[in-house]
This record gives sequence, C-alpha cells and structure tokens, in this order.
Amino acid sequence: VDSIVERDETPAVQKAIADPEKIVVVSTSPSVRAALGEEFGMEPGAFVEGKMVALLRALGVDYVLDTNFAADLTIVEEASELVRRITQKDRPLPQFTSCCPAWVHFAEIYYPELLPHLSTAKSPIGMQGPTVKTYFAKKMGLAPEKIVHVALTPCTAKKFEIRREEMHAAADYHNRPGMRDTDQVITTRELARWAKQAGIDWDSLEDSAYDSLMGRSSGAGVIFGNTGGVMEAALRTAYETITGQSAPESFYQLQPVRGYEGVREAVVPIGDLNVRVAVIYGTAHAKAFLEEMKQRGTEYHFVEVMACPGGCIGGGGQPKDLTKDPNQTRQSRIAALYKRDAAMTLRKSHENPDIKAVYEQFYGHPLSELAEKMLHTLYKDQSEILHPAQEIREEPSHTEE
Ligand code: SF4
Repeated sequence: VDSIVERDETPAVQKAIADPEKIVVVSTSPSVRAALGEEFGMEPGAFVEGKMVALLRALGVDYVLDTNFAADLTIVEEASELVRRITQKDRPLPQFTSCCPAWVHFAEIYYPELLPHLSTAKSPIGMQGPTVKTYFAKKMGLAPEKIVHVALTPCTAKKFEIRREEMHAAADYHNRPGMRDTDQVITTRELARWAKQAGIDWDSLEDSAYDSLMGRSSGAGVIFGNTGGVMEAALRTAYETITGQSAPESFYQLQPVRGYEGVREAVVPIGDLNVRVAVIYGTAHAKAFLEEMKQRGTEYHFVEVMACPGGCIGGGGQPKDLTKDPNQTRQSRIAALYKRDAAMTLRKSHENPDIKAVYEQFYGHPLSELAEKMLHTLYKDQSEILHPAQEIREEPSHTEE
C-alpha cells in the first residue's frame, strides 16, 4: 500500500495526453479547489474552481468533470441505504460511511466485525469512474476503452482505492476484463508541480467551466470535503426521503455536525425519529470512539469517519506550508466550502438536475439493480495482516514397526 500511495502518476497522465488515441477525462474532488491556490501564493481558503478547470484545459485534458457530481450520487445512494436500514432493517445500524479508503482499510484490518455496518455505497471517485466509462461515454459517443479517467484529489489513499478489485464495474458492464474504472490519481500538489514545470502562468488563467453531463453539483456535494459534510449532505436527503417534506432551514447549516473537534455527536429529529449521529476524523479518534461505543452500548444510526484531520480538506496530497498553522489552514479551507454551499441555490443532492438525468437515463432509481451492481460493494476482513497464518510444516511420520 505504501509504495502505491507514494507513486506520482503525473507522467502516465502526460503520456495519455500526448497519445492521440486516448481521451483524457479528469474529475476533480471537492477539496482541491479550496487549496490549490495556496501553491500559487494565494491565501488558504481561496476558492479557485474556475482557475483549476482552466489549468487542466491548458495542460491538454480533453474533458474536465466534477467529482462533486458523484458526491451527490453517493449521497443519494447512501441516504437511500440508510433509510432502508432504518425502515426495513435489512442490514445493521449504525451505518458507517465508507467514502474514505483509509478508514475502510483500517476497519478491514482492525474492526472486521464492523464491516456489515459500512455503507455499501462506493466513494464519489468509486462512482464517478464507472459512470464516466458507461453513461458519459455512451452519451458523448466515446469508446470507453480509449478513455483514461484521472481523479484529481487531495488524497494519496485514492491511489490505492482505484486499484482495489471492486473498482472494475465498467469492465464487467462492457465485458472488458482489465479495464479500470479510474486509471490514475494525481494529487493537488502533483498538479501544481506539473503546472509549474509546464510553465503555466497561474495568474493569467481565466476561469473556465466544467464540461456538461457530470459537471454540475449541489452545495451538498461541495461540502463533502469537510469533516461533517457527508453527514450534513446525507441528512438533507434522508430528511426529505423519510418525511416527504422539505428539510427545514437548520439542515442547511447543521451546526451540531459542523466544527473541528475530532469527535462530534448529535441527535437530529427527522419526523418522529430522533436520528443519533456521530462525526469523527482521524483513526486515533475513531479507535477511541469505537471502544467507547462498545463499552457504553450507545445506539447510533449514522456515523461518519474520515481519516485526515478536518476531513479531505486536510488530505495527504494537499499543499503544505510549514510557515503556517496547519489547523488554521484547514479551517480556512473548511470555511471556503461552507461559504460556497451557502451561496448556491441548489443545495440538495437529489435535486441536482444532472443526478435526476443519470437516474432517468441510466441507473433507473437509487438502489436499482444496476445501481447496486455499479455503485455499491462489500468489503473484506483483512485482519489476517495482523496475524499471518503460521506456516504449516509436514512433520515426518515416525511409524513404529
Ligand atoms: Fe483521503 Fe483523507 Fe479524504 Fe480519507 S479523509 S478520503 S484519506 S483525503
């Protein structure tokens, strides 16, 4: 795992751009736009979405899509799964988020008994990849085998996640063994380094917009990058699914789940139900929380866990300025994403017109057979890493004569 997450895949992306046979599609994660500007002398929290898209186009990318679209898709699937667990009791509660590959791997190794509790919904990148190589390819008239899908992320662990065996849904769909849903991952810092080496003048880049079909998101998708963001986004959709009514104003700034403490807990009333939630970042906090949950026997409905401090805005691939207080920097990035959400009129994942279109024209409905196949997965007990099986040696037999 370590050798994978440290690998710089920029040369592979550059090679694909130079190949006229390849179509390079880059999808950008929520947190990159709140941090990339720091690499070019801007203050932490500068929101540079338009410049980031322009930069990718200047580097020769064919299509720029937004992983925030898939964050909305993840929210719709994950909130539907939560509602099903609550109403139909088909899988155990609490439901834990599974969009952070470092947390998933931690649970697989140290808490395998929790795996039935992990949401089966793949991460936004885990959903974006197969949707690019099926729905997007079909609508745009592109040959899926020519597409090189690149995720631009704050996250080094995504380099490991895209290589998991579960991330080959497009290969199954097209019956093309070996095709990966996402081919490469580059981080915020790696993109900045590439831009500098290419001599791009950041200041003169004019804002550019995403390509269509998978380039629009709601504010709920935007805040996915913050600790507590997945929870808030999912509760906006779960409220409306459970009650059939519009979520009240408080759900657009869900204070109990916002903040920067490593563990936050809240009880959120949804109709007749008091939904007990917890939001955690950092595996040390997660371990302490899980041990306490076991001891106290507290019953939660939904728990969000992200491995990095502050969530993905504090990911391992984000800019690092050692002259600045990292906590301040992370909080400025968090504020930038909440500010963006507050400025949007579209703030619920299920109301995103591009999400409605992908269901109408491809997936059918949340948790449909095709959605389950392409957008969901199960994780495996990997605790044997801690206890490697003893080598069994055949003892010579000493049969007495
Ligand atoms: Fe990656 Fe960190 Fe976000 Fe987890 S919290 S998905 S490890 S950036």
